[in-house]
Amino acid sequence: MLDGCVPWPEDLATRYRREGYWQGRPLGDLLDEACARHADRTALVCGQRRITYADLAAQARAVTGGLANLGIAPLDRVVVQLPNVPEFVVVVHALLRIGAIPVMALPGHRRVELTHLCAHSQAVALVVADQVKGFDHRALARQVRADVPTLEHVVVCGDAEEFTALTDLHRPGPDLPAVDPGEPALFLLSGGTTGLPKLIPRTHDDYAYNMRATAQALRFDEHGVYLAVNPIGHNSALGCPGVLGTLLVGGTAVLTSSVRPDEVFDLVQRERVTLTTLVPPVVRLWIDAARRSGTRLPHLTLQVGSAKFDPARAAEVRTSLGAGLTQWFGVGEGLLTYTRLDDPEEIVLTTEGRPLAPHDEILVVDPDDRPVPDGVEGELLVRGPYTIRGYYRAEEQNRRSFTPDGYFRTGDLVRRRPDGSIVVVGRIKDVINRGGEKVPAEEVEEHLLTHAAIRDAAVVGVADPTLGEKTVAFVILRDEPVTSATVKSFLRERGLATYKIPDRVVPLDEFPRTAVGKVDKVALRASA
Ligand code: AMP
Repeated sequence: MLDGCVPWPEDLATRYRREGYWQGRPLGDLLDEACARHADRTALVCGQRRITYADLAAQARAVTGGLANLGIAPLDRVVVQLPNVPEFVVVVHALLRIGAIPVMALPGHRRVELTHLCAHSQAVALVVADQVKGFDHRALARQVRADVPTLEHVVVCGDAEEFTALTDLHRPGPDLPAVDPGEPALFLLSGGTTGLPKLIPRTHDDYAYNMRATAQALRFDEHGVYLAVNPIGHNSALGCPGVLGTLLVGGTAVLTSSVRPDEVFDLVQRERVTLTTLVPPVVRLWIDAARRSGTRLPHLTLQVGSAKFDPARAAEVRTSLGAGLTQWFGVGEGLLTYTRLDDPEEIVLTTEGRPLAPHDEILVVDPDDRPVPDGVEGELLVRGPYTIRGYYRAEEQNRRSFTPDGYFRTGDLVRRRPDGSIVVVGRIKDVINRGGEKVPAEEVEEHLLTHAAIRDAAVVGVADPTLGEKTVAFVILRDEPVTSATVKSFLRERGLATYKIPDRVVPLDEFPRTAVGKVDKVALRASA
């Protein structure tokens, strides 16, 4: 496996192959085959654009040539930061065909994250849009390029200015070597605990299973129409089954970046969307809008996760929207749990479901890593055929995030019920779950501490009726006063992702402390 990745032990790899989890097929080949099999059907819809599987194949082939001509080779890393547009799919398909590794940046990432992703993955290329919602990604690319010497190419979707235009990459290229399905196909990003996002190497074999099995669990096939509302670069909209999983089974993926009911309801009805993945705040928005307008979406199933969804609201998916519901828990590192479509209502409304794979090995443990009985709360650990054994180039972090026998520590607190369903009850990692987007507290604190007027900082998540949690930064100031607005624009100027900027900044004279002298975040949360 690519240097810096941690392979599965040989005995487990053999077992996963024998049991049919890993089928030895590169994702580029699987996508090519789907394009050939469903040539005349619609693969992608975005605004007025409708792209057939044959069109998609032609575009992916053309861009493969252009990328290969630039010198992009198997296992090269290429950071992709694009909104939900067909070009995202074309570029990723092309990279998979080469066996190069797309690194899935999120649209909200800014200089801090993008520089880190390019530097840490030693990326040779960065693919961005020209502008998204008024933000100029070429200007950002210029800064990143100045900081990352390995970055040879910037490819721009739209007006490229001095960079390479994606449209200029439509060129015939050299013959490609066969891609090894045991190698990483793509790098997802970890919501993380400390510091910057860690890179999650997902192999062709394991991610193909991830997509195939979620599609099967949700009975999603070539008649299915998937709506991508979450960023496609996030696991939730990429491969669970997401846009790539939709294409593998011959369905249609509809791409949008809007969550607004007045826009999305029309789209859902017009395209007869059957499945979409949403975070709870968006579902709550949709439910409230449907109540007002009387809209019903009976063909649609909502796959709701990334953050806790309360049972009362979950019940309203059926009663107010007329839609089906599956709740899920997922980590980019692998493990997915789902409530199944024919589960009793009580399971669907109150649990995050059962693991996807029969060979997912789940442990729920106490702080000393001792398994606790069913019904008792503990940390969720997992290993299995689609859960990584280590982050990319992260030996020290891997010692903390994985047990010596290879279980991934999710940092989530759960209860397992005797029927095998998982109920998420909290977390031990110091991350704020802001409507499904993960804000690592420590990282924001470190940025706050670089402000000359801030002596100490503690960042916590506090309950919020819309987002589930909001980010509050408590700060102890030196002498001069600073306003909340000044602190927020300071963080923005440092290049921190938009979604990590605290919602509130609250000055304090001192922090409450625990008996051992640590900042008492429980007390801070309560005071907010
Ligand atoms: P990400 O790294 O963005 O894939 O986020 C993974 C994390 O999201 C998990 O470790 C959980 O903390 C959280 N998460 C995912 N699904 C759920 C859920 N259904 N309920 C509560 N938290 C969730």
